[in-house]
Amino acid sequence: MRGTALFLSLALAVFVQGAEPWQVVRVGRVDYVTLDSFSKFYGFKIPPEIEPNQPFVLSSPFGDLTMTLESREMKWKGSRYWLSHSLRRESDVVLVPRVDLVKTFDPLFRPNAEIPKRPVQGVVVDPGHGGGDEGTRAARGLSEKTANLDTAKRLVRLLDAAGVPWVLTRTNDRYVDHADRSKLADAHPGYIFVSIHFNEDSSRSSEGWETYSLSPQYAPSTSSGGSLVGDEDEIWPGNGFDHHNFLLAQAIHRSAVLSATNAPVDRGVKRARFKVLRLANSPSVLVEGGFMSNPREASLLRTEEYRQQVADWIFKGIMAYRKSQETSPAPTRLSVGKSEKTGSTAKVSASTPELRPIMNLESVPAFKPKLAPSNVPVSPVQNPPPGVPAAQHDMTNGEVRRAIPVVPTRKVE
Ligand SMILES: [Zn+2]
Repeated sequence: MRGTALFLSLALAVFVQGAEPWQVVRVGRVDYVTLDSFSKFYGFKIPPEIEPNQPFVLSSPFGDLTMTLESREMKWKGSRYWLSHSLRRESDVVLVPRVDLVKTFDPLFRPNAEIPKRPVQGVVVDPGHGGGDEGTRAARGLSEKTANLDTAKRLVRLLDAAGVPWVLTRTNDRYVDHADRSKLADAHPGYIFVSIHFNEDSSRSSEGWETYSLSPQYAPSTSSGGSLVGDEDEIWPGNGFDHHNFLLAQAIHRSAVLSATNAPVDRGVKRARFKVLRLANSPSVLVEGGFMSNPREASLLRTEEYRQQVADWIFKGIMAYRKSQETSPAPTRLSVGKSEKTGSTAKVSASTPELRPIMNLESVPAFKPKLAPSNVPVSPVQNPPPGVPAAQHDMTNGEVRRAIPVVPTRKVE
């Protein structure tokens, strides 16, 4: 890999000239940022040794991030996530996938950084399958479509009691087309879309909870094993909500897997291009609340108590997300007739240079690496107020910094 070594040394040499630059490199068709620039931006401390296939911890005052070289798995504040590509090391430089930086890490670490909040006006609750489409089936009878509908009805009762408007995509045992389910969200502006499913696997030992967020453009779905399969360049209506899709997914996921009692096995927040997620014109999520093919979970799911528990976890996740999207009331005017602005409205320009690779390790033509960097502009952020969880705040901790990730437009020749 002589070419790799040469490439990296060139890239680093060039970018050390700027102030805290993002070091972006491409390996094959995938763009990465160096772990070094990643850690500097978010204030993580890198451990002295990083061994392949052994989890290592990046520590920060805001929390610890656990990642593994050659793996797509990571853990943040006690729950599990799947990256689009594995972390890798080239010429002793550890690399983090750029698409995950923009679409996974930044929403996690800076959930409110300059991205407008989307107050939740209500919830479209979607019990998966129905009618001739049964979904999966547990041993001894319970079908997924029935469990989905029952759980959905329990969820809307909880929403109702909390005064949150809702609408169900189906209220009985009938099939509803995926596009029609998504259209229901279109008809209710400001609603979020929550699809409820239960899982199956050929292995009866598979168990636990998975929460799905739409794969961002250029990111493979989790089930692809990190391979690019060819549908990654597609962009869907749902991709307009990447940031909020992910925040909603992680809120529901954490509500379940970090539950003090009966917490299901944490299989992670995953990515997929499910049709209801692709077509939804609203922040949306698909929950797989346990395996009907697993004898233990199937027997739990046959009980009303457990289906109520599942509904309650989803409900609490929705409420946590909803709270995170509340906008603070407009500042009160000091006196009538005065025209001074109250409150800070200072904004740093949101325009960022197009993110692009500085050089190819292989000469691959025509990959379009525009990763909507304008979604992640520079933010004049505030320190977290006392008592508010750090996760709701910007890990760059009050400093006005560059957008993620700025790449100098100058080319290395
Ligand atoms: Zn299903």
